[in-house]
Formats: sequence, structure tokens, C-alpha cells
Amino acid sequence: MGAARQPRSKSGKTPSRRRRASPPIPVSPAHKRKFRERLLKWYAQHGRDLPWRKTAAPYEILVSEIMLQQTQVDRVLPKYREWLAKYPTMEDLAEAPLSEVKKTWYPLGYNIRPIRLHSIARESVVRYGGTLPRDPDRLLAFKGIGRYTAGAIRAFAFREDAPILDTNVMRVLHRVFVGKGDAKRQKTALWGLSEAMIPRGKGYDFNQALMDFGAMVCSARDPYCLLCPMSGFCKAYPFQRDR
Ligand code: SF4
Repeated sequence: MGAARQPRSKSGKTPSRRRRASPPIPVSPAHKRKFRERLLKWYAQHGRDLPWRKTAAPYEILVSEIMLQQTQVDRVLPKYREWLAKYPTMEDLAEAPLSEVKKTWYPLGYNIRPIRLHSIARESVVRYGGTLPRDPDRLLAFKGIGRYTAGAIRAFAFREDAPILDTNVMRVLHRVFVGKGDAKRQKTALWGLSEAMIPRGKGYDFNQALMDFGAMVCSARDPYCLLCPMSGFCKAYPFQRDR
């Protein structure tokens, strides 16, 4: 099975901003339980060993999340290591000249990202002593931290049961529990579903599992439906690309 993670989408900005009402996606208690159990079991056997899963440092999680926006895991891995060797803390990054930071970023692309990362580092040093707040509204007040990144920082650095919805997670939840239509048009409801599905106290593993499952099993173009542990109740099974 392919190991590349799909590029992530950008997401909305503030949770407090009024959103259009969207009816929740109905999920039976039995399917909810099965999905959680099977996903966590699959992850325990197949989850990827990635360096940002060996740290809880908010800065290191932030760097990984910004790099993973729009860039595949395989390309991020060497740059992530190089970056942390050069800028091991938020302070180191904040003190570095922006021109050098942009050069260090090369060749990841989408070059607004090092500028944002540098600006987040500077703001973090001035306002929070070089770390990140765990409060979602404070996180979202940083330019460059959207709803997805705030959720990832809360889940992966602070171990909160915070929802995430990147491209992979959106695709998996939409296929399994909706099955048809355009996932992007149901983003608000899928955020709600992402939150409702998290087993209490297991947000870290559950969210990591969802991302890996979307990258390795329920991939965008050629999902492994015949081997999939969700096939018995997945609404998109068997997936057909042009349905
Ligand atoms: S059955 Fe296919 S479409 Fe459904 S979750 Fe599994 S891989 Fe994805």
C-alpha cells in the first residue's frame, strides 16, 4: 500500500465566526463503535513511524503541520530534520533573519509558509514566551494558524480530544458515513462528525489513525476497498471514482 500522505487542505479561520447551519450527519451507535474500534486496531498494526509522533513540543508539532500543508510526507521528512537542527526552538527561529529562513525552506514550495512560520515564532516569543497557547481562540488569533492546524496542535501537542479535518480525514468520513455528493460542500457537518467520532481520551491516536488510514487505505484515487475493515458498513463501498 502507498505510504504518501495526501496534501492537506486549508481550513476556516475562527470557531466563533458564525457558520451556515448544517444538519449533523447521522451515524448509528453501532457504526460509530465499529468505526472507532476498527480504526484504532488498524492503526496499532499499520500506523506510520514519523518523527513528529515522538514529540509533544508545540513548536515541533507546529513545524510539522505547516510543512505537511500541501507537501507529501516523504518530501517533508528530510526538511523537518534539517529545520529542527538549524532552528531547534521557537526563539531560534524568531531570531533568524527571514531571508535565511526562506532559503532554509527551499525546496518545499508554497513559500508563504516559511514567512508565516517565522511570524508565528516571533509572536509566540513576544506573547507566550516561545510556546503556543492551548486555547483554540488564542491559537486561531495567529496569522497562519487555521482551524485544522489549531486542532492538530491541541490534539498532538496538548493531547486534547480536539477534532481535525484535513483532506484525508474529510475523505474518509465522507465516504464511510455519507457516501455520495461533494465532501467539500459538507465541511461544517464533517467537522461536527470528526469531533463526535473521537473516543474520549483517545484523540491523539484516533486523529493520527484517521490521517494514516486516508493516506494508506482510503486513498483519493485507488482505495483498497476489498481489504478495508470498514467495507461492511461504508456507504461508498465499493468505491467507484466517477459515481
Ligand atoms: S470501503 Fe473503500 S471507500 Fe469505504 S472506507 Fe474502505 S477504502 Fe474507503
